[in-house]
Amino acid sequence: MTEQVVPVDERGWQELDDAQLERWLRETDPRLLQKLWEAADRTRRAYVGDEVHCRGLVELSSHCRRGCLYCGLAVSNRGLERYRMSDEDVLACAERMRRAGCGSIVLQGGEDPCLDTDRVSTLVRRIKTTTELAVTLSLGEREPEELWSWRQAGADRYLLRFETSEADLYAMLHPPFAPGALSRLALLEVLRRTGYEVGSGVMVGLPGQSYRSLVRDLRLFRELDLDMIGLGPFIPHPATPLGGLIPRAGDVPGDATMTCKLYALARLLCPFSNLPSTTALGTLDPAEGRELGLRRGANVLMPNFTPPAFRERYRIYPGKTDGSTIPLTREGLETWLGERGRKLGTGPGSRRRRG
Ligand code: SAH
Repeated sequence: MTEQVVPVDERGWQELDDAQLERWLRETDPRLLQKLWEAADRTRRAYVGDEVHCRGLVELSSHCRRGCLYCGLAVSNRGLERYRMSDEDVLACAERMRRAGCGSIVLQGGEDPCLDTDRVSTLVRRIKTTTELAVTLSLGEREPEELWSWRQAGADRYLLRFETSEADLYAMLHPPFAPGALSRLALLEVLRRTGYEVGSGVMVGLPGQSYRSLVRDLRLFRELDLDMIGLGPFIPHPATPLGGLIPRAGDVPGDATMTCKLYALARLLCPFSNLPSTTALGTLDPAEGRELGLRRGANVLMPNFTPPAFRERYRIYPGKTDGSTIPLTREGLETWLGERGRKLGTGPGSRRRRG
């Protein structure tokens, strides 16, 4: 294997070639990994500071027309009791987030046809007139016209993970909805042109995913100049076709350490991007996962404000802990962050381009 190179600054990390990046993803020596964590943490502090921006998550619908093989909301999962929140319920969540010191709200859901142009536009307008929250949408693959209308209504950001840059794997895991529909990568371009801050990302440890493709994913984050990079471990859901798969020797493990390697390298390659320490990482390691993410490159948290009765039914993957370890009040968040040497971010926490 290639000799391990430990660069002295982020310029050095950015100049690593693909084989050297892959070497880092495969690294298991704790002393060397410590160097990676430290480099990522230094870069995080230098470029985006000690503020942790909190985005309040509300999972407004579990209806979905898609059949993604990895996701528990897939239409094929007939055992799941579906729900849709009312606008009033969502607005009540927005108000709780505002009071808790979140700078933005993330409206996430399955690809629910009832969340149409008018419904979402109205909801976005209502949130923007009653709070100062930045609004992020994460509603799957939508028509460019819809994305444009929602932007006109005031939505600021859109999250759409490309899930993996490995084309065959993506095609297998993510059957297209309609022939000729735009790919997620093409939609990311549309989002950029429409004036959204753009977030994307991948799952780590998908069956059949290669280390080489994770290196390509990292390169793509930088090429796409992402404002936000969402990275989480793949967690098999028993009611999906991937639920019972037995990992093969040589597979990329979807564990907390591998996820953190991606956080750290993403921070080093894209120093200004916003990088959440995700719920999926918190689910794998409820005691420490989110904190590890914040220490290894992340600067964003997404506390879950979905009311418990709905939250239980938004089961993308099993065991979602959803903020049970992340407080949902301003005081609680300030204390939790303060104990970890960080502070609650102020304002919407838009992506910075300069230090
Ligand atoms: N319908 C929207 C929002 C989906 S949920 C969309 O498709 O964009 C957000 C993310 O959860 C997905 O992009 C995917 O990366 C992640 N996810 C889905 N199933 C998962 C699983 N089994 N384990 C871990 N993450 C998963």
